[in-house]
Order: sequence, then C-alpha cells, then structure tokens
Amino acid sequence: SINGKTAVITGSNSGIGLGIAEELAKRGANVVLNSFTDNAEDHALAERIAAETGAGVRYIQADMSNGAQCRALIEKTVAEFGGVDILVNNAGIQFVEKIEDFPPEKWDAIIAINLTSAYHTTAAALPEMRRAGWGRIVNIASAHGLTASPFKSAYVAAKHGIVGLSKVVALETAQEPITCNAVCPGYVLTPLVEAQIPDTMKKYDMDRETVIKQVMLERQPSKDFATTAQIGGTVAFLCSDDAAQITGTTISVDGGWTAL
Ligand code: NAD
Repeated sequence: SINGKTAVITGSNSGIGLGIAEELAKRGANVVLNSFTDNAEDHALAERIAAETGAGVRYIQADMSNGAQCRALIEKTVAEFGGVDILVNNAGIQFVEKIEDFPPEKWDAIIAINLTSAYHTTAAALPEMRRAGWGRIVNIASAHGLTASPFKSAYVAAKHGIVGLSKVVALETAQEPITCNAVCPGYVLTPLVEAQIPDTMKKYDMDRETVIKQVMLERQPSKDFATTAQIGGTVAFLCSDDAAQITGTTISVDGGWTAL
C-alpha cells in the first residue's frame, strides 16, 4: 500500500501531474507538487488537496530545465517528509515545427525538461529509496514514446529517450524492491486540450463532438480521451504491491493508439 509513502510529482500544478498527485493523495501518500512558478495559487493547490484527502501536501518550486534544481527538489522533499518513496517524472512541454525550422532553444528546452530532468531526479532519489528499502519510479512518456508524428522531433526524441531511460533504471535496480516504468498516454483531456476545442470548432465549422472524434482523436481508436484521474490510477497501480514485478516496461493508456 502507498499509504504513508512520500511521492514527488514533477510538473504537477496542472493537467496530468495534478491528476496523479490527487490520486496518490487519495490513497494516503504524502505528496509534493512542483512547477517552476512560485505563486499563491500553487501553494493553494497543495492546501486544497491536503484538505480534501487528509494527506500531507507541499508545493515546492523547482525548474526542471535546471539540473541543480531537479536535484534540489528531491533534497527539499527529503527535508520536508523524511524520504522519497515514489518519484513521478511528469513535467513536459511541446513544440511543433518541421525539423529544419525547429528553433534550437526549443529543442534544448524540450530535451532538458522532458528527458534530462528525469536523469537528475532519479539520480538524486535512488539513494533515498535504497535507504528506505522500497521505491517506485514512474516516468510519464507518451504514445509518442512508442510511435512518431511529423513536426514533433524534439518531443518524440525525448519521449523515446525516457522510455529507454526507464529500462536502464529498471535493470540497475532489478534485484532491489524498486521498480521503474513508463506510462504512455494517448490524448488526455487536460485544461490545455479542453481550451483548444472552441477554436478548433470555429476553424473547421464543426460541433464539439465532431471536433473531438474526427480532428483531435483522429489517431485514438476509442474516440474518447483518457482522463487525468485514469493516468493517476495507472500510476497508483504501478506503485502497488501487485506491480512489484512490473519493471522496465511501458503501460499504454491510449484508447488503442499504438495498436493501430
Ligand atoms: P500541462 O501543460 O498541463 O502540464 C505540464 C506541467 O509541467 C505543468 O504543471 C507545468 O507547470 C510543468 N512544467 C513545464 N515546464 C516546467 C519546468 N521547466 N519545470 C517544472 N515544471 C514545468 O500538460 P499535461 O498534458 O498535463 O502534460 C504532462 C505530461 O504528460 C507531459 O510530460 C506530457 O508530455 C505528457 N503527455 C500529455 C498528453 C496529453 O494529451 N495531455 C499525452 C501524452 C503525454
């Protein structure tokens, strides 16, 4: 059971990361929320989840494009809660452009936030997990960790990279009570995705249902979004005792995307 364990979720003041934080807190884990901002709303999120679940919840600011700050996030979590049992590497950004026009600074930022941050947090968290004699690392990859789309070179490279990193960490911890896996979501209904629906409706002169099924979920055979709570539940399963022998693999939550 994850009751009483401590979980840190990178990039968790919105979207999937926030959904994961809520699901882990509901199951009794202490939770550290994170992003690069340090606003009153960020801390208010932590207070809301704490009030709703009774879990210990803190917001800790750290920029996942900066290696030292990635490691400091783990150190501050240990200082706050006495350890790090669950690490969820979720922070991620996207940029869409053909490769010859892809801005080098966008390439570097995507590789840093979506991939390199997980190297730093994992390196910092593993000694704590070994000390505690238990650990779970869950990397939020994507259907784009297993397949590709044009114009998403940096994102697809970073997501394939984090799937590979998950396998290496799994092998380095294979004989310990520590696992490392990647979750590969298809299209998830986050506030960001929801916000695109009205514009797309106007652009194609389509109703909401048609936009969702024919435009946004073109590659998702279920024709339905995954929810942030479903991604959170999948992470919680990977943290459970039932999943103790699941390591170095991927779980797709993509409505059949990668079966196509
Ligand atoms: P989102 O934009 O709502 O969340 C991204 C989070 O990362 C936010 O909390 C943001 O503050 C944080 N973040 C961004 N830059 C950061 C930085 N430098 N340092 C720290 N935090 C930073 O998007 P989301 O859809 O919830 O995405 C979360 C993860 O899920 C990403 O890794 C994304 O690639 C992956 N994903 C999303 C979908 C989807 O359909 N939404 C599908 C597959 C994978």
